[in-house]
Amino acid sequence: MKPPSIAKLSMIPAKQSEAGPKRELCQRCALHETCEQKFVRPFIPERWSGKLLLVLEGAAEASVGPWAGDEGRLLRRLLKQAGYQSGDVGIVFALRCAPAPHEVKGDRPPRWARDEPRKRPSMLQVRACRPFVLKTIEYFNPKTVIAFGDTAVRSILNKTAPALVHLRGRKLSVAGLDPSPVVYATYDMATVFGENNAHLRDAVSQDLERPGWQPLGVPAVQFPNEDVVAIDTEYVGDKLLTIGLADLKHAKAVDVADTKEFVELVERIKEPFLTKTLLGHAIEGDVDHLVALGLGREEWVTGERAGDPRDASARQPADVRAVGRAVEGADTEDPR
Ligand code: SF4
Repeated sequence: MKPPSIAKLSMIPAKQSEAGPKRELCQRCALHETCEQKFVRPFIPERWSGKLLLVLEGAAEASVGPWAGDEGRLLRRLLKQAGYQSGDVGIVFALRCAPAPHEVKGDRPPRWARDEPRKRPSMLQVRACRPFVLKTIEYFNPKTVIAFGDTAVRSILNKTAPALVHLRGRKLSVAGLDPSPVVYATYDMATVFGENNAHLRDAVSQDLERPGWQPLGVPAVQFPNEDVVAIDTEYVGDKLLTIGLADLKHAKAVDVADTKEFVELVERIKEPFLTKTLLGHAIEGDVDHLVALGLGREEWVTGERAGDPRDASARQPADVRAVGRAVEGADTEDPR
C-alpha cells in the first residue's frame, strides 16, 4: 500500500488553517509551544474514495508522515489486510500538535511510559483541537471513522471515555454531528507496540475489518439451516437462560425455559456442526456448560478445532476474522 499524498491545500476549508499561536484556544492549549511539528493538518489522498477516516492521537511523526516508522508500517499492513487501498484511507489528528514525551530518568523507561510514551493531554486540550476534527469529518464526509486510542476517542465523544476494551466493537457516533458517520474505536499503535501488547495487533486488525462486515440481518423466525458459525449463551450466575445460534443468514436465540424450542435446539445441535468456523462470546466460560448439556464437543466450542474432526483440512483454530471474510464473500490475501 503506497502512502497517500498530503491533501491539496485547496481541498481544506479555509477555517481549517486557523490553528496557530494567535488563536485563543491554541493559546489555552499551549501544546504548540513544546512540540516539534506544529499545527499538522489532515492527510487525505487526492482521489479519496471516502471509505475510511482514521483519527490518530497526535501528530508525533508528522514530519515523515503517519505511515512511516514501525507503527506506520504495521498500520499500513493491517489496512491492506483489511482490504483497503491507498486511496481509501484519510488521516486526521485529534491533536494537531503532539503532546510532549514523558520525562523519564535512566536508560530503560518504566512500562507505563513505554505503553504511553507521551503525556496524556487534558480534556481542555482535546476540546481546543476538536473543532478541526469535526470540520474534517464534516467536510470530507467519510463513510466510517476509526478512532485510535483514548485521546482520539475523547475527541470523538467530546468527553472522557470508558476503557477501550469496553468500546471496541460498538458503533459510536461523533458527538455534535448530525448525521454522524459510524465510528469504531480501537487501540492506538503506540499501545500495540508496548511491552507484552503484541496480542493487541489482532484486536486492531479485527477492528479495521469490522466496517466491511455485513450484519446478519433481523433474527430469523427459524433455526439456522446452514452450517452454524456462531454460538452464544447467556447466564445469570450458573443458570443458563438462552442459547443463540447463527449461520451466515439467520440468527436464533432460544429461551431455555421454553421446553419445546429448547428440545428442538438440542436435537439440532447435538449432531456435529459441520462448519469450519465457530465463534462464541466468552466461549471459554461456556465450554463446561455446553459440554455438560451435550450441546457441543469440547474441542469445537473451545475453538481448538473448529470443524468436522474427520476432515483434516478443517483442523484449524476458529478465527474471528474468517467470519468477516466469509460474510463479505471475499478471499483476503494475508500479507504476513
Ligand atoms: S493541539 Fe490543536 S488546539 Fe492545541 S495548540 Fe495545537 S492546533 Fe492548537
